[in-house]
Amino acid sequence: MDYISTRGSAPALDFEGATLAGLASDGGLYVPREWPRFSADEIAGMAGLPYAQLAAKVMFPFVEGSLTYERLLELTTQAYGRFAHKAVTPLKQLDEQQWLLELFHGPTLAFKDVALQLLGLLFEEFLGRSDRNLTIVGATSGDTGSAAIDAVAGRAKVNIFMLHPHGRVSDVQRRQMTTVLAPNVHNIAIDGSFDDAQAMVKRMFNDRAMTDRFAIGAVNSINWARLMAQVVYYFAAALQLGAPQRKIAFSVPTGNFGDVFAGYVAAQMGLPIEKLIVATNVNDILHRALADGDYSQGTVTPTAAPSMDIQVSSNFERLLFDLNGRDGLALSAQMAGFEMTKGMQLTNAQREGASALFQSARTDGEEMDETIRWAWEACGELLDPHTACGLFAARSLAQAGDIDPSVPIVTLATAHPAKFPDAVERATGEHPALPARVGDLFDREEKCVALSGEYDAVCAFVAEHATPRADG
Ligand SMILES: *Cc1c(COP(=O)(O)O)cnc(C)c1O
Repeated sequence: MDYISTRGSAPALDFEGATLAGLASDGGLYVPREWPRFSADEIAGMAGLPYAQLAAKVMFPFVEGSLTYERLLELTTQAYGRFAHKAVTPLKQLDEQQWLLELFHGPTLAFKDVALQLLGLLFEEFLGRSDRNLTIVGATSGDTGSAAIDAVAGRAKVNIFMLHPHGRVSDVQRRQMTTVLAPNVHNIAIDGSFDDAQAMVKRMFNDRAMTDRFAIGAVNSINWARLMAQVVYYFAAALQLGAPQRKIAFSVPTGNFGDVFAGYVAAQMGLPIEKLIVATNVNDILHRALADGDYSQGTVTPTAAPSMDIQVSSNFERLLFDLNGRDGLALSAQMAGFEMTKGMQLTNAQREGASALFQSARTDGEEMDETIRWAWEACGELLDPHTACGLFAARSLAQAGDIDPSVPIVTLATAHPAKFPDAVERATGEHPALPARVGDLFDREEKCVALSGEYDAVCAFVAEHATPRADG
């Protein structure tokens, strides 16, 4: 499979190239040249496969040319062997219509492990084929950082620099990053919001002074391989609930639009998805964009669901590209306008295309608490605040009659409740216990530098600690 940029002028790359690249050189994001498609019979034939095998089947069309099927299966077996549940992403029923897909059984307790455990292995595989090394630079609102660090700590030929907004991640999230003392791991707390940190990382990907010296790679969901790995659990859940004979709806707690875009990809591949519900918290740029076509950046309000405290959703660009006839130059002009004025209107084609598959809902703090309480009192389930936004959206659209009662709605449970114990305890009076696999997190030593929000200071720190390109 070949990968092309959403902005139309960067060179096409194979899967290996797209995995090791950060942003495309024209500032766009890589997407497959076309969507592979499975027939209903092929999908039916995947029912009952163990997760690692299903993963290899679903992902193989995307990696063909860079990995053999056998090698891919070895990597998925290794990546998903580290999960604490044999089913990897088990499904739980809440009531007649509502289901939870538990994506938090990986080492750092959030869904990001599902993609990053594989991505760490892909980096090692591809870097091992040459004398290249990789400088990963990422920004995290909490969960990407810990999952990425766990996936690459101690691996040869990789250094990771992870920026997080100082004081805006939970204690568990921070400690999962800063207590990893491997010498190739560099945590940076910056003054500012997640969007500020993400903007700095994007700037570095476009900064020739840095990219000429260092091979800079991405672990944020701008990296295609992450989205690819997330497509798999949509298949896993839908197959269990009767696909391809039956349509399924998904509700997705959304920030950077990566996880829900993976659902869009699953639909393009032939999975019968009735609706994808984009659930936001009060940082609702995506809800406004999908409801009114108004994609304009507000200011970030900190909430109990910090991984969704985002006002610029990088992966939305991938959807806009697909819905605009894949016209990279037109999208490039549209995005340039957005970057200048911090706002844009979607085109008619983009609005109509999006409304065919997506619905959206916004959850405020009180609704989050009520949903956590409902799940605990009615179903005996503790939810983290992100998952609560997803379930709130799923239940309200069902109650409004927007989703047919015969269609199961699967809310993606994106984090373990123990990752956000204060919010859970406030809503339910219960203190969620950390699973034994995270061990003595609160007794370990931390390693982190604090830098101002200045781009030059971050570049200087990276330059001092990264390994220059072998070919530089
Ligand atoms: C990252 C994250 C999200 C948002 O996912 P996107 O792919 O950025 O939309 C939601 N919930 C949790 C717990 C997360 O870590």
